[in-house]
Amino acid sequence: MRILIAACFLAASAPMETAHAAPARPNRISVSYVAPKNPDHQPIYQRLKQVRFLERLQEFLSPVRLPRTLRVRTEGCDGDANAWYDDDAIVICYEYIDDIWKTVPAETTPTGVTPVDALVGPVFDTCLHEFGHAIFDMLKLPVFGREEDAADQVAAYLTLQLGKDEARRQIGGTAYAYMTEAKAATEPPKLQHFANEHGTPAQRFYNLLCIAYGADAKLFGDLVEKGYLPKERAEGCADEYRQVAFAFEKLVSRHIDRALAKKVLHQSWLPAPTTRVMRHPGAKQQP
Ligand SMILES: [Zn+2]
Repeated sequence: MRILIAACFLAASAPMETAHAAPARPNRISVSYVAPKNPDHQPIYQRLKQVRFLERLQEFLSPVRLPRTLRVRTEGCDGDANAWYDDDAIVICYEYIDDIWKTVPAETTPTGVTPVDALVGPVFDTCLHEFGHAIFDMLKLPVFGREEDAADQVAAYLTLQLGKDEARRQIGGTAYAYMTEAKAATEPPKLQHFANEHGTPAQRFYNLLCIAYGADAKLFGDLVEKGYLPKERAEGCADEYRQVAFAFEKLVSRHIDRALAKKVLHQSWLPAPTTRVMRHPGAKQQP
């Protein structure tokens, strides 16, 4: 199944161009690490640069032909733990990475999520989510449904094109972050909470598990067997995955440089699962 879908990811034809527009081309992402204003963010800033996080992201996304440069940067956001896309630029705040770092478990969890996956998984997923917003805008892609859900689907779809082992790890790390966020709520959500343009963390958790199971029922079969993904939802997940794969094939694949994508998909992208993660100075006990 993954190979079949990878073929869809790779399938590309000439990009649509208008007579006067500059031709879209691959390798159109620029990256930068803005020095943090808050000294507490210095270790994050140093570590990101050390592991060449943004350069790796830049290379992973390089096959997509863009009409203009997409700028991606990490920076301090004056206390706002956030990430966004706007006006040909993606911003990932150190505050957001710091929040994720706080939730990293000291040891591999009973469900098999390693500390490094609990850190890299959600941060990488957020970058891919923002990239989803970027391509909707820059490639003028139509979107049915909530754009936030569609951006989550782009992130999950790209993740599922990784090798089996890395796809599994990446989904596990991201799911861990959503579940941690869902469990962190100390009181029932207020009605207004559901007005948010994003799904709730619990919904995003189940959506992610569903698309993963839908892509590869063997690789993610234990999610259903162990009850993380209810059987009732699981029954429709192959269709849910196919819907996203079809949209990607119809709308995005013609904007992808086939040779570059093939090269990218043959590489490994995640740090070794045994990579040690320094404990956050304010790390809490994990549930
Ligand atoms: Zn978003």
